[in-house]
Amino acid sequence: MKKKIKGHVIEIYCADCRKLLYRYFKAGSGYLVKCYKDRILRNYTNGDLKCHKCGKQFAREVMIHGKLIHKIIQGKVFVKK
Ligand SMILES: [Zn+2]
Repeated sequence: MKKKIKGHVIEIYCADCRKLLYRYFKAGSGYLVKCYKDRILRNYTNGDLKCHKCGKQFAREVMIHGKLIHKIIQGKVFVKK
């Protein structure tokens, strides 16, 4: 049986134009700093880490422990639970 990860679904919005960017499964509590690609439940962007409405970049792709993740640029997004 697969171990169930504790967490909750959050919605990530563009801080500038308030467009919904990702619906994301966040493990644990605390501030959002990075997104694991396999936990993005729904991606509303074009996959280029930019807001699909205003074009502002909100994340950077970085490699951590052999996995590509989206590191959130602080201040560019806000989160709703
Ligand atoms: Zn935007």
